[in-house]
Amino acid sequence: MLPPARPEEVTDLPEDIALLHHFANTEDLRGFVAHGQRLTAHDVLATPADLERWLREHDLLGPGEPVGDAHLARAHALRAALRDALRQDGEAGEVLLDFPWQVKLTALGAQPVVCGDPVTTALARIVVAALTVTANGTWHRLKMCPASDCQWVFYDRSRPGRARWCSPLLCGNRMKTQAYRRRGATQTP
Ligand SMILES: [Zn+2]
Repeated sequence: MLPPARPEEVTDLPEDIALLHHFANTEDLRGFVAHGQRLTAHDVLATPADLERWLREHDLLGPGEPVGDAHLARAHALRAALRDALRQDGEAGEVLLDFPWQVKLTALGAQPVVCGDPVTTALARIVVAALTVTANGTWHRLKMCPASDCQWVFYDRSRPGRARWCSPLLCGNRMKTQAYRRRGATQTP
């Protein structure tokens, strides 16, 4: 099966997982060949206009809201922190995200409220998704593929939740072949 061209092609994800998955994969570093087709690394959020379009497509922002360079920088910082946290090598450090929060307490419980402009509030919705999936225990199923030429963020649907590769057939096999070749190379006199 061909890998998804866009993260939005991956369907049936739980709502908050989907938002994190789609956002994390806006930085697409995949550069391998799958079934004769080369994937090219690219950044879906390269400009403020890209960010505006992405937020609108994900129903996080209304039309006509200005998106500036500072918003793009905030989005990139959030994405970098998210992607680092999803690495499986355990090397992720701690990142403190700077969002202006208040918490609303009602009879229904506690709810975070962001006191920022519309774009900051939209980005904070992604942070709330991370809080939600941490609380509901599905965070650990969201992982970054460890293949250096992939680094795609995927949702591990396996029952034990121990999947390592975004695709065992593509990335798992490719990495095994590369490791085998490296071992062969070091053994050649
Ligand atoms: Zn992969």
